[in-house]
Amino acid sequence: MSNDKKNSAPAAPALPSNFLRAIIESDLASGAHAREGLPGVITRFPPEPNGYLHVGHAKSICLNFGLARDYNGRCHLRFDDTNPEKEEQEYVDTIKDSVQWLGFSWDWQGPAGVEHHLHHASDYFDQLYLMAEYLIQQGYAYVDSQSAEDMAANRGNFNTPGKNSPFRDRPREESLQLFRDMKAGKYANGEHILRAKISEDAMSSPNMNMRDPAIYRIRHEHHVRTGDAWCIYPMYDYTHPISDALENITHSVCTLEFQDHRPFYDWLLETLSAGGFFTLPVPKQYEFSRLNLTYVITSKRKLRQLVDEKVVTGWDDPRMPTIVGLRRRGYTPESIQLFCERIGVTKSDGWIDMSTLEGCLREDLDPKAPRATAVLRPLKLIVENYPEGQSEQCSSPVHPHHPEMGLRTFPFTRELWIEEEDFMEAPSKGYFRYYPPVGDQPGSRVRLRHGFVTECTGYDKDENGKVTAVRVKYFEDSKSGTPGSDTYKVKGNIHWVSAATALEAEVRLYDRLFTDPQPDAGGKDFMAALNPNALETVTAYLEPGMKDAAADQRFQFERHGYFVADRVDSQPGKPVFNRIVTLKDSWSAK
Ligand code: ATP
Ligand code: MG
Repeated sequence: MSNDKKNSAPAAPALPSNFLRAIIESDLASGAHAREGLPGVITRFPPEPNGYLHVGHAKSICLNFGLARDYNGRCHLRFDDTNPEKEEQEYVDTIKDSVQWLGFSWDWQGPAGVEHHLHHASDYFDQLYLMAEYLIQQGYAYVDSQSAEDMAANRGNFNTPGKNSPFRDRPREESLQLFRDMKAGKYANGEHILRAKISEDAMSSPNMNMRDPAIYRIRHEHHVRTGDAWCIYPMYDYTHPISDALENITHSVCTLEFQDHRPFYDWLLETLSAGGFFTLPVPKQYEFSRLNLTYVITSKRKLRQLVDEKVVTGWDDPRMPTIVGLRRRGYTPESIQLFCERIGVTKSDGWIDMSTLEGCLREDLDPKAPRATAVLRPLKLIVENYPEGQSEQCSSPVHPHHPEMGLRTFPFTRELWIEEEDFMEAPSKGYFRYYPPVGDQPGSRVRLRHGFVTECTGYDKDENGKVTAVRVKYFEDSKSGTPGSDTYKVKGNIHWVSAATALEAEVRLYDRLFTDPQPDAGGKDFMAALNPNALETVTAYLEPGMKDAAADQRFQFERHGYFVADRVDSQPGKPVFNRIVTLKDSWSAK
């Protein structure tokens, strides 16, 4: 969030409205969340640090941080670190990095200076504990000592009401002592659990989440931040509303699967407010539909399986839908933001087509990306009437619509590289690139882009029948940009690089990771839908200037698509390129 916005009037966003914006605008107008010294909109993004963020999280980040930005509010990054066994510092670091890379900040210019709103649920362990004692004392929570099996059996299901635990009515003092002993480490994992008692008949609530939900459990585990201070840990459904309230969150926006958790969210905050822990207004929860993107899986568990089984090279493999993967693939933060705006927020589930994301990417890259030439599947071209050892410069704009980006130059020489597919021994109908003379029919005439017009005179083959070189003659007076060059009318127009100076480089041609648009829908085995052609590595020849490409620099390789110098494997003077996306939507599962 930019700090200079703080004192300006609430923005009237030019962005399309949605149900969340409507709620926020109405709350701002009525002052529903007005508090001294605080903005009227405070949102949060609450990841669990147990894996890498994916494109679905990007939607949530763009939404939460975007709403805060658009309404002069602030957004907190809060780690929901209540599961010590699954959490690691590595994940905390990458999540922070991903949020910042997407273009957002948890810093906020407050009345007394810049505030850093990076929080952890574990910051609140002391308060969470005291509130739990309060709930026990008030008869709103009790320690249950049933076995896990009995507890599950007594919970009932959608059709059957649950049964009260035999421990449900134990004296409050007994529960309190047991809870303190749980905290003191006197019991093993699973021996006791603290449960809420929302009402006398809560075990027959039609909402399973209201049937005496667990709020604290015993876990003898070391915690990344609190070390061995605790051996009881609060549950997510208990921790999350309280963390929201402690941080003065106004609009707690989450995905639809939490809809059934909202009654507990509201009950808990209401009950604790009555106990004087919070002052009104307390935060309100709103749900939106999660992102489902075709050809992609967005489950941390399944993404981890791809990493663990070495289907990909890591979380940041350019085929992965993780934010680090998208970044390494060459996606821009702007393209992801544009995508999240374009798909909007609703409450109805659906699938977004991958081509929507790719379309946003092309739209963002086209005006920005410098053009360059790369021959991905090289075939030698010999200009027979061009003297050996001679060379001359050709040039072309760095960007066809941005003359201010300047010109790039590259040499023309007797031997060039062209694409294999730009020559056909026996041309098919409508093929205007190189084909040889037959009888008294001359070979085709083709313009070498930004260079000369040429005419095919023949070709060479090896003993296996493979074409090894195409032979042409060039017309000296046909150089692009010189007077009279346009008197040559040719239909074929291809790219090329000088063999004498070309930069040899590894280029990775990435494609979709799955061939099935909904690889894991309905419990399908997504491993069976892997696209065997999701990566092809070629040795390409690039125009010589490309040796200076810096890691993360993006280009449009003419006729091929957008490419980025890989941020991990590129070396100074020796870039390795990833294909970000082709120029047109040409997806086929092959
Ligand atoms: P996963 O199911 O992959 O493990 P998660 O939801 O458990 O993901 P969290 O770290 O809890 O992961 O997610 C943080 C936030 O991101 C949550 O508020 C969650 O609702 C949101 N989120 C997760 N997946 C999506 C998605 N596909 N679309 C939109 N928001 C998402
Ligand atoms: Mg979760």
